Amino acid sequence: MSLSRIKNGTIYDPANGVNGEVRDLWIQDGKIIATPPNADSFSGKSLDAAGYVVMPGGIDMHCHIAGPKVNAGRKMTPDLKRTAPPIYRGEHTRSGTGGVVPSTFATGYLFASIGYTTAMDAAIPGLHARHAHEELQDTPILDKGFYLLFGNNHFVMKHLRNQDQNALDAYCAWLLESAKGYTIKIVNPGGVEDWKQISRKTIKELDSPVQNFGVTPRQIVRGLAGTADRLQLPHSVHIHCNNLGIPGNWETTLNTMESLEGHRGHLAHVQFHSYDGDPNDPASFSSATQKLVDYVNSHENITVDVGHINPGTTLSMTGDTPFSQFLHNINRNKWYTADCELESSCGVIPIEYRPQKSLINAVQWAIALEWYLLMEDPWRVIMTSDHPNGGAFYHYPEIIYLLMDRSFRLEFLSQMPEAIRERSVLADLEREYSLYEIAIITRAAPARVLGMKDKGHLGPGAHADITIYAPQQNRQEMFERPRWVYKDGQQVVADGEIQTHAFGKTYYTSPDFDQEFLPHIESWFNDNYSIRFRNYQIDNEEVPQAEEITCRQL
Ligand SMILES: [Zn+2]
Repeated sequence: MSLSRIKNGTIYDPANGVNGEVRDLWIQDGKIIATPPNADSFSGKSLDAAGYVVMPGGIDMHCHIAGPKVNAGRKMTPDLKRTAPPIYRGEHTRSGTGGVVPSTFATGYLFASIGYTTAMDAAIPGLHARHAHEELQDTPILDKGFYLLFGNNHFVMKHLRNQDQNALDAYCAWLLESAKGYTIKIVNPGGVEDWKQISRKTIKELDSPVQNFGVTPRQIVRGLAGTADRLQLPHSVHIHCNNLGIPGNWETTLNTMESLEGHRGHLAHVQFHSYDGDPNDPASFSSATQKLVDYVNSHENITVDVGHINPGTTLSMTGDTPFSQFLHNINRNKWYTADCELESSCGVIPIEYRPQKSLINAVQWAIALEWYLLMEDPWRVIMTSDHPNGGAFYHYPEIIYLLMDRSFRLEFLSQMPEAIRERSVLADLEREYSLYEIAIITRAAPARVLGMKDKGHLGPGAHADITIYAPQQNRQEMFERPRWVYKDGQQVVADGEIQTHAFGKTYYTSPDFDQEFLPHIESWFNDNYSIRFRNYQIDNEEVPQAEEITCRQL
């Protein structure tokens, strides 16, 4: 019954309509509670937050922090580890490497140090799920989870071809439950499978059939979106569209949105899918954001995260190997592909964004900001960099500053090629985000889109995940170094220093489905997964130290 108070903070809690009101927050047993009856005479633990900005803990709903491609990335780019300082072993911290793909421990510490308390990995193949869980259990402080790859799965395509909806639903539910995934992820639907077969070419059109399966990307998206709704998954189907990165791909993106036919759908890193121009002429590259924003504004079943880019060198890592090959053909950097024998694929390749020099990079940078600034409803546009694809998550404060201060934006824009003004409307956009809107796109909206009712807000019953900032005119500096961060009511960061080595929880779904359809899952496959996953318990609360990871004892 530990009761504590955060006193007189200026609270931004959009989910409860609180916009900069000075209030006390009360915490008991890791949760926010209503003001207790004995509040006036309370003499227990109290933090004076007068003059400080108080928000729920940040939520990154699309990043890559575990699984095979993350490890491949760490191994193949030791040079990039030097782009950010390492974490040294300290009183409360283990050591860890920094860079654009930090080690597990460093990932937890660095997220917490910018006020983020939840992060979801966006692409794990079922057959590598166990390893991904082990890594997540090595990642301190954060609550976490992952989305499972389904968009090129043979069983999915077979059930779709047979128009066997019940078997499709049962299969997806069973795999999510077995591998402890959070929702259905689709990456380049059908296109990865086509590439893996003889062609080494991916599918360009939403209505082209996948070789040997005869189903189309449109059918895969529509079918799985229906499954996610029928299974009542907390988060919708999570989609990485076909034709990522290709000039003119906005039409594919629009067609994908239409193919949902009213089902819920979340479009990931939409910046990379909002390009106008001729696919065969990179010089024609320009923004198509407005056309897509118009559609999303008028279709409430759709949400997006942005996938902005930051200047500098980072690592592209994706379940879309055809895209990695495409990128390699452009920049000739070393690249890596794997997992082609699984239900998916994985591609990793270093990439440098130079918006000050490259017009294409400048347009990409501008498109991301256009998405944030053109969307009428901030509840359906969520801040992500598709970490590390667009840049590491710890650059979020720079984007926040760009959104909150138009003069900073224009200064940045003035350093870019002049032609950016013909390719993007960014220079004309006068909107500046408020702290309330920042709290929406980094906290309240991702929680709502993920269906996490006890996160992203500060009302009674919410997890006491709280970030407290000292207000500063320079919003980048303000958001880079919160004064205090709480996770489940425990102070985990003070003045930028990690205060504890606690572990958070793993989130997964366990959908109801009709067991009668389980025989549709081939027995060898069932056995294989069962050996790997049955009786595998995720219980981070019993994992005070990484050495004692439960799953390793199985
Ligand atoms: Zn991603």
